[in-house]
Amino acid sequence: MTASLGDLPLRDDLRGMTPYGAPQAPLPVALNVNENTHPIPDDVASGIIDAISLIIRDVNRYPDREFTALREAFAKYLGHGLSSDQIWAANGSNEVLQHIMQAFGGPGRTVYGFGPTYSMYGLLARGTGATWAVGERGANYTLTAESAAAQVREAEPDIVLLCSPNNPTGTPLSLDVVEAVYDATDGIVVVDEAYWEFAPHDQPSALTLLEGRPRLAVSRTMSKAFAFAGARVGYLAADPAFIDALRLVRLPYHLSAITQAAALAALEHADEMLAMVDEIVVQRDRMFATLEALGYEPSPSWTNFILFGGVDDPEATWQALYDQGVLIRNVGIPGTLRVSAGTEEETTAFLDALASLGA
Ligand code: PMP
Repeated sequence: MTASLGDLPLRDDLRGMTPYGAPQAPLPVALNVNENTHPIPDDVASGIIDAISLIIRDVNRYPDREFTALREAFAKYLGHGLSSDQIWAANGSNEVLQHIMQAFGGPGRTVYGFGPTYSMYGLLARGTGATWAVGERGANYTLTAESAAAQVREAEPDIVLLCSPNNPTGTPLSLDVVEAVYDATDGIVVVDEAYWEFAPHDQPSALTLLEGRPRLAVSRTMSKAFAFAGARVGYLAADPAFIDALRLVRLPYHLSAITQAAALAALEHADEMLAMVDEIVVQRDRMFATLEALGYEPSPSWTNFILFGGVDDPEATWQALYDQGVLIRNVGIPGTLRVSAGTEEETTAFLDALASLGA
């Protein structure tokens, strides 16, 4: 006999919640969770294996709790004059965001974002007992500085999460929105740049705004552009005092010696790890053009995925693609589906399968 959730003394504020649940299915073409579907290059893989085989003899000891070498490597990778005392890292940017919520959220506090946005924000906020509140976007999921600032002023949140570019819509966010939101709140402002490397290379990152803004943090991940989703490595840049706040809530030794070694080795080959980004952007743009030609309404995207509208019955289309071995995502926005750009072959397989259904 097994119990159900309702039988357990669960926290009242967690009752009725559903866990993060992108379906995991072993289909030949998996374009559902915005992974980088290109495997990491062989020589980088060898470098990572060598690094892990060196440290594995020392795993009887706890790892460097301060992951000093890794923080230095991230500071170097990010540039913008950042130093290692401005860097934090954790097991995926999900955990980085969770640390922020634990330090600055919690019961009685409000976390705010502009929907539709990344589905984990609400779960992470509510996981710490904070309230999750959602503001509105304008046409085509865009956000203006005036509108964002006015909504934040009204809501008075403790943490604002700005996803740049936004998941699940792919929408760019201009830096004047970040500046206006920062000025409209006394709380924390987080710019989640998980997909930043897929944005046009001449665009300024929110990292350029960190100077003089101690309540601002910019988070990144190795999961997407670095093709490192399975290794679980995310990081952020902020004022050193902000980093100290995160030290209060992290578990001791939260980044394993294996994770630190793997991430460091991968960062040593950053150029090679990122080599596929431009190719993925080519596939994304091809997907955009073909979706349009097929009569769908793709949203402009600075990420490695596209949300497309004009889908009469998203669940039926999702299932029909599934039946052809192509896994994409129904994120629950009426009339839309979301698909990641894959390799050239995977992208073709998706577009052909979709075309075979008729628009
Ligand atoms: N932020 C955004 C906007 C995302 O889409 C994702 C993953 N889908 C994450 C953060 C978390 O990624 P990870 O934990 O793998 O770094």
